Amino acid sequence: MKILVTGGAGYIGSHVVKELGRRGDEILVYDNLSNGHDWAVLYGRLVKGDLSDNGFLEEVIKEFSPDAIMHFAASIQVEESVREPLKYYRNNIMNTINLLEVMVKDGIRNFIYSSTASVYGIPEKVPVSEDTPLNPINPYGFSKVAIERILNDLSKAADFNYVSVRYFNVAGADPEGRIGQAYREATHLMTRALKTAKGEFNKLQIFGTDYPTPDGTCIRDYIHVDDLAVAHLLTLDYLLKTGKSRSFNCGYGHGYSVREVVEAVKKITCKDFKTEEVGRRPGDPPVLIADSSRLKNELNWSPKHADLDYIIMTAWEWEKKLD
Ligand code: UDP
Repeated sequence: MKILVTGGAGYIGSHVVKELGRRGDEILVYDNLSNGHDWAVLYGRLVKGDLSDNGFLEEVIKEFSPDAIMHFAASIQVEESVREPLKYYRNNIMNTINLLEVMVKDGIRNFIYSSTASVYGIPEKVPVSEDTPLNPINPYGFSKVAIERILNDLSKAADFNYVSVRYFNVAGADPEGRIGQAYREATHLMTRALKTAKGEFNKLQIFGTDYPTPDGTCIRDYIHVDDLAVAHLLTLDYLLKTGKSRSFNCGYGHGYSVREVVEAVKKITCKDFKTEEVGRRPGDPPVLIADSSRLKNELNWSPKHADLDYIIMTAWEWEKKLD
C-alpha cells in the first residue's frame, strides 16, 4: 500500500514509518523538519514541505497518489498551547484543513488522525472510554477536538473516511536504538527526568502536589511508542477494509503519578537527582488513564511493552546517545 505520512520524521510518526516499512508498504514522509529529523525516517522517501504550502502539498500528493494519509504533523505541548493558542490553532487546525482540502480535491479518502487524551479534558470517570464527552481544558486539546469534529462532518459530506487514534502519554524509544524522542525543547516528564539524570538540568520540577490523587501529583497512562505504532497499523488496515469512521483510545489502562515516574527513572538510570515541588502547570488534568477495550477487542491490539521500567530503559538508552 502507498501511505503518505505527515510528520513522519518526528517522534511518533517515525516509529509508525518504521512499522509500515517493515511490512513493506510504500511510504512518503511529508515533514517540514521543524521538530523532526531526516535521520529518523528509516523507510521510504522524505519530502521537506510545510502543510501551509497548499500548492506544493497538492503537487506531492497528486504525484504520490497514496491509498491513505496518516497525519502526525502538529504542535503538541499543552503548556505552550496555553501561552500561544494561535500557534496551535494555525498549525493544528488550519494546516490540517489545508491537508483535508487537498485530499477531498484529489479523491484521497482514507485518513488516520493523530489525536490525544487531551480531548477529554478532566474526565468524570477513569479509565476513559471513547464515549466520554469531549471537553478539552487547554488549546492543544481544543485544536484536536476541532479537527475531530471537522472529520466527522466531512465523513458525512464527502467520500471520506477516517480513524482518530486518541493516545495517552507516549514514551520510550526504538529498542534497537535507531530512533527516539529528539525534540528541540524537552518538556515532557519522562524526557525531562532522563535529561536531568543525564546532567543536562540540575533539577526536575514537579508541577503541582495538591491534586486529588494518592500522592498529590498527576497520574498518566504511559505507553511505549512501538505499541502505539502497531495500533496505528491496525487502525489503518481496519479503515481500508471497512471504510468505517471511528475513534480508538490507545493506552495501557494503568496510570503512574509524577512521583512514581521520577522514582522509576532514578532506579533505572541509577542516578539520583534533585527535584523541586512547584505550583501546578496550567492546563493539566489530574488523572488520565485509557480504557482501550475497543482497540483490544475489535482490532486485537495486544501491547508488548506495558511495563514502565522497559519504557524508561529504552528511552534512557536512546537519551544517552543524544548530545
Ligand atoms: N510534569 C512535571 N515536570 C516536568 C514535566 C511534566 O511535573 O518537568 C508533569 C505535568 O505537569 C503532568 C505530567 O508530568 O502532570 C505529564 O506531563 P507531560 O508534559 O509529560 O505530558 P502531558 O500529560 O501534558 O501530555
